[in-house]
Amino acid sequence: MVSTTCIVLGIPVQEGAGRLGCDMGPSAFRTAGLVTELRNLGYAVEDRGNIAPAPQREVRHPNGAIKALPETVAWTEAISEAAYQASGDGMPIFIGGDHSLSAGSMTGLARRAAKEGHEFFVLWLDSHPDFHTLETTTSGNLHGVPMAYATGLRGFEGFFPAVANPLKPENVCMIGIRSVDPAERSALATAGVTVHDMRAIDENGVAPLLDAFLKRVAAADGILHVSLDVDFLDPGIAPGVGTTVPGGATFREAHLIMEMLHDSGLVRSIDLVELNPFLDERGRTALLMVDLVSSLMGRRVLDRPTQSYRHTPKAH
Ligand code: MG
Ligand code: MG
Repeated sequence: MVSTTCIVLGIPVQEGAGRLGCDMGPSAFRTAGLVTELRNLGYAVEDRGNIAPAPQREVRHPNGAIKALPETVAWTEAISEAAYQASGDGMPIFIGGDHSLSAGSMTGLARRAAKEGHEFFVLWLDSHPDFHTLETTTSGNLHGVPMAYATGLRGFEGFFPAVANPLKPENVCMIGIRSVDPAERSALATAGVTVHDMRAIDENGVAPLLDAFLKRVAAADGILHVSLDVDFLDPGIAPGVGTTVPGGATFREAHLIMEMLHDSGLVRSIDLVELNPFLDERGRTALLMVDLVSSLMGRRVLDRPTQSYRHTPKAH
């Protein structure tokens, strides 16, 4: 995996969140040493800088609660294209930016997976499912819609860019969920997304939940994308986010997930989203997020035998 080139893409989108500040996220990730950490692990790193949104066009939706629709659509267009290109060159690491960026990253990556003839899977680490449609959102903050959009739920046509390769809901595994609106709850159940809430973590631990999903990805010879929202983590260890929800993943639960992901050799791209440096405490959330990326990319405290998910390791 160390032959992989990591492609860092800064995406300073903040219009999807309810509070300002996520536009500073890419700077905070860089200041926290993301690129250096990756290089220390032996990776070649290409930092492509921050991308800009596509030109904005006039677009209105009858749901009057929706905020910043033209801006979000313009970002989605640009991010999707950048994700498609970058995933052909190496392993994209999208540093956000609020979670609306995943509307672009997931659709671009799904297009890449389809081109390569692979099934596309997403591990969604978040306290929220972000499964609202343009009709059901009541907050109007569009960081709450990317998963519904990428899986091809109805109601985005004519507003957002068309989704050429919808992500199959059964290829999505959500872990850490603890804040779900009623409309999302019923949409998730109908769609067939695997949702592990915090209670499932309490009762089982993260390892068996993740292990079952990784086995499915490997069995399908799939490509795995990881979308990590800061609010997946407990606010006690990660205060730098605008949507803190108590009772989140602990330091060790989060690291164990990252370590298992590394061992699996299945991860091809990562979103790091919702970091709000304005709300952080002396950079501790940014540093923790970079630390988690290091675990995902192979840093380990002790040598131990690793479980093989693939029969023949694939070169990335
Ligand atoms: Mg989110
Ligand atoms: Mg969230």
